[in-house]
Parts: sequence; C-alpha cells; structure tokens
Amino acid sequence: MSKAQIIDGKACAKGVREKIKAVVTDLKESCGLTPGLAVVLVGADPASDIYVSNKVKQTVGAGMNSFEHRLPQETAQDDLLSLIEQLNGDDQVHGILVQLPLPDHIDEAKVIAAIDPLKDVDGFHSINAGRLSTGQPALVPCTPVGCVILAKKVKPDLTGLEAVVIGRSNIVGKPVAQLLLQENCTVTIAHSRTKNLADVVRRADLLVVAAGQQEMVRGTWIKPGAIVIDVGIHRLTTPEGKTKLVGDVAFDEAVKVAGAITPVPGGVGPMTIACLLRNTVVASYRSEGVEAPDLG
Ligand code: NAD
Repeated sequence: MSKAQIIDGKACAKGVREKIKAVVTDLKESCGLTPGLAVVLVGADPASDIYVSNKVKQTVGAGMNSFEHRLPQETAQDDLLSLIEQLNGDDQVHGILVQLPLPDHIDEAKVIAAIDPLKDVDGFHSINAGRLSTGQPALVPCTPVGCVILAKKVKPDLTGLEAVVIGRSNIVGKPVAQLLLQENCTVTIAHSRTKNLADVVRRADLLVVAAGQQEMVRGTWIKPGAIVIDVGIHRLTTPEGKTKLVGDVAFDEAVKVAGAITPVPGGVGPMTIACLLRNTVVASYRSEGVEAPDLG
C-alpha cells in the first residue's frame, strides 16, 4: 500500500522565518524601520505562558522588536483596554496580540474590538474578518494562513479542488474556508451538526480538519490521494505513562490512504507563530502605506 507524503511543517516554518528575517533586515537598512510586536498575557495559564515565551523568542530571533506585557490574573478590563489604547498609539508597535483565553471577568470580544485593525496580527477583529470575506487586504488569522501555505507546498495551484473544512470557528474553520475560496477551491464547511460527515469528507481532494475531536477522522473517510491538513492538537498519556500529541485525524490510518498529510506534532503547529511574524511584517509595511513582498 502506498504511503502519503508527510508535509513537514517544521521545515516550512523555518523557511518562512528565514524569509521574514531577510525582509526585516532589508526594512531596517532601507527605511530604518524595525517591525515591533506587542504580546499581552493576562494571568498565569501555563500553556499560554509557553505560547507567549515562544512568540517573544521567535520575534526577537527574526530581528524584530518584542514588547512583552504580563499582567496579573485580577487585572481589570478597563486597565487592559487602556493598555491596548496605548499600544494602538505607539509607533514602535506594528502588531498587537492579546493571548487568549482571557480570565472570565474580561469580555474577550470587547478586547479584540479595541485593537486597531491595522495592528490586529491575530486577524480576529471583525473588520479583518469582513475584509477577508470580501476579498480586501486583511490581516488573516495565523493558523489558517499556515494551513494554506502547507497545502500549496504539495500543490501550488489549488484551483478547482473539492475542499472540505471540518470546523466553523472564527479562529480556524471560517477563515480557512475563505482563504480556500480565494484559491479557487469549491469549499464545503462541515461542523458538529453536519449529517453523514464521513460521506462529505470522502468528496475532499483537500481536507482541513479543525474540529477539536481527537482522531475523529478515520482512514476510511479519506479519498485516496487527498491532501490532509490536521489542525487538531490533543495531549494524551500512553499506558506507559508517556505524553503523546495526536490530532483530529487518525494519522496511522490516514497516512495509508492520503496523498499527503501533516503530522501532529510537526505539521500545522509550527506554522502558527511563523505566520504571526509574517502578519507583523505585513502590518509594518502597511504602516508605511505599502504592501509587503511575497513572504511564502
Ligand atoms: P472550536 O472548538 O472553536 O471549534 C471546533 C469546530 O469543530 C466547531 O465549529 C464545531 O462545529 C466543529 N466540530 C466539533 N465537533 C465536531 C464533530 N464531531 N463533527 C464535526 N464537526 C465538529 O475549535 P478551534 O479553535 O477551531 O480549534 C480546533 C482544533 O484545532 C483544536 O484541537 C485546537 O486545539 C486546534 N488548534 C490548533 C492550532 C495550531 O496552531 N495548531 C491553532 C488553533 C487551534
């Protein structure tokens, strides 16, 4: 039985970071501009803490300015909104990222709405969601951008493919679907109320799974030769007591049927921060009134 090509997200993310580093060096030399990313973390959630530390490390590694704001769990919403207002007005800051989830007493939607859409490098502001869906220049959520870059590594022109996206979240499912429409795919969005999901998935030449359901997509659901992009991440403990990461796709089954597949870990995950840096560079160029060069 043939085995799918494994799409190497780590290598691809490294390539994106290298391109960004070169562009950042050029920006500094040609117009004295250093892209800056402000990251705001409220509280001490251990997973968020690791994400933020990685974001800061990679921002600095790419030659950009990093501004880190770690606030206590009990921070008042108004204080967080004041910080965002200050960052909105700071010329050194081209991108603002507020690490989610926020503590329960803070209204996430209000916080996202307070970020200047031109600095909204997570792409969660409704202005950016609207611009994406109407085909205007936007800051697009990082994980979806990463998914499309990975799919295009396998097939640079996705035109005409039947694409199925499982998941309709604002963070992954919907923006991935919008990006695939822009790539001229015929897009179906499936979700928790979709009937006969396996049959819908069997139509897909390109399958993006962001359902948050451990190993839900079985090998028998996949069209032979399909490109499979697995966004899910689940941490489990093996009977031997070891920690293992798995995705939303039953990888060992799918790899025997698909044409190409992203592994978990090492697939979509590494692309997310690389695309955050990419968005920061895009926002920096736009602050100068120009579009960034192709960043892969
Ligand atoms: P979410 O919970 O907001 O959305 C899940 C979506 O899947 C919903 O729209 C729901 O309708 C659909 N769904 C749930 N159960 C389903 C089922 N049984 N059948 C069909 N559809 C179903 O999740 P999210 O934020 O979009 O994230 C999805 C997954 O991706 C999670 O595992 C998350 O951890 C992971 N994730 C990974 C990255 C990364 O960088 N790799 C980034 C974001 C999210």
